[in-house]
Amino acid sequence: MTLEALDKAIEKKTFPGEEDWPAGDREALAAFRQSGVWMFPPDPTERSATLGGMTACNASGARTLFYGSTRHYVARLRMVLADGSILDLRRGACLAADQGQFQLALPDRMIREGVIPGYVMPPIKNAAGYFSQPGMDLLDLFIGSEGTLGVFTEIEIMLIPAPEMILGVIGFFPSESEALAFVRSARIESVSGEKSSLPSRPLALEYFDAHALDLLREQKQKVGPSSPIPALPSDAGSAVYIELAATENSMEEAAEALLASLEACGSRSDSAWTATSPEETERLKAFRHALPEAVNQRIGERAAANPGLTKLGTDFAVPDEALEKMLATYHQLLEAEKLDYVIFGHIGNNHVHVNILPRDLVEYRRGKALYLELAKQALGWGGTVSAEHGIGKLKKPLLQLMYGDAGIDAMRAVKRVFDPESRLNPGNMFD
Ligand SMILES: Cc1cc2nc3c(=O)[nH]c(=O)nc-3n(C[C@H](O)[C@H](O)[C@H](O)COP(=O)(O)OP(=O)(O)OC[C@H]3O[C@@H](n4cnc5c(N)ncnc54)[C@H](O)[C@@H]3O)c2cc1C
Repeated sequence: MTLEALDKAIEKKTFPGEEDWPAGDREALAAFRQSGVWMFPPDPTERSATLGGMTACNASGARTLFYGSTRHYVARLRMVLADGSILDLRRGACLAADQGQFQLALPDRMIREGVIPGYVMPPIKNAAGYFSQPGMDLLDLFIGSEGTLGVFTEIEIMLIPAPEMILGVIGFFPSESEALAFVRSARIESVSGEKSSLPSRPLALEYFDAHALDLLREQKQKVGPSSPIPALPSDAGSAVYIELAATENSMEEAAEALLASLEACGSRSDSAWTATSPEETERLKAFRHALPEAVNQRIGERAAANPGLTKLGTDFAVPDEALEKMLATYHQLLEAEKLDYVIFGHIGNNHVHVNILPRDLVEYRRGKALYLELAKQALGWGGTVSAEHGIGKLKKPLLQLMYGDAGIDAMRAVKRVFDPESRLNPGNMFD
């Protein structure tokens, strides 16, 4: 099931094959239809993503800042293991011991025994390697396992009540330092417990640096009047997209508080773009999505002249205290190499994507070397090499860098418990 189909089913409260459901389930559906508006919070931007793929990658997205990633909304998994046996696992049914040992009973009474990896995951947004925590729920081992441990055939998800309304605002700032001051003030409550400048904790805080804004300006000019990108303020050197949950009654007050908070950090409130209806919010989201599209177009043009050239996109996140240091280091090293790049993404989680856009293959090689350097820096600050996209095949050396030989061996040992012949997604995460 795709995310698009799932969201539509939740909105319409109509599900494929519901007429054949058992009586108890149809009663539950009738009760669900009488209740309010519900949502499945994970939103990794790409609407064609399947629920299986999202669970396998523990997908997140802009609102992960508030709602958390896919794993928080998975209640049960039914999986087919590599030898064809079925594992049906409900949250809470099987916990690892504090020392990491686990035992899982399959329907054929076979017991699978193993030990979860002993590495310590950084306490930040993280999608690198198998999930591991003392006493963890075994369901979390499979979520984010990138299809290496089993094939999910049923996924039971949890929904939550949807906010009545969502206020979306893009605030423009003269430079990066003002945007960073705003981000600090907007999330202060969740980071240090002090009173935030906003009326509620933001659902999303997304960043665009000066290079990203320039690329959008250029794209708008290229496309001409039919471009969906609105004219950007000419003096803007950075921007932050903010979302707040609101009600019809609180919307005006929330918008005023947010604009005042932007102004206090050096943003002109008359330059901000505000969305108070779902249609307007979709327009702001479309603006946000225009950036990766523009990146892909620029890199596509360069790749046509330089076969083998790709963009080099980071997915690193760091702890709160390293946010400013991380951005300053990114700019310093990228400028020193004279590389073309944009920085954008989930700044609320200290998780911005650097997209290096090499002009030719010489720059591509220099970019790759720098990419590794940036990964080492992020790890040095206690960060992760992948906060949401996972490891796959291309980022295996980064996972090795993060967890070392012992960590990789521990993951291999877990895989052997469920897939001793390495049939499922061989070569994903580790060899
Ligand atoms: C434009 C764009 C923007 C994106 N933005 C974000 C973002 O902001 N945040 C984010 O987290 N992600 C983002 N993504 C990535 C997105 O989350 C993933 O592409 C998506 O979640 C994967 O779902 P899929 O159906 O495409 O899976 P696929 O790409 O088909 O598969 C992904 C992996 O999951 C495995 N898999 C698939 N189905 C199953 C199953 N049933 N059982 C076991 N394993 C399975 C596959 O073997 C594969 O290893 C973005 C992607 C795009 C294209």
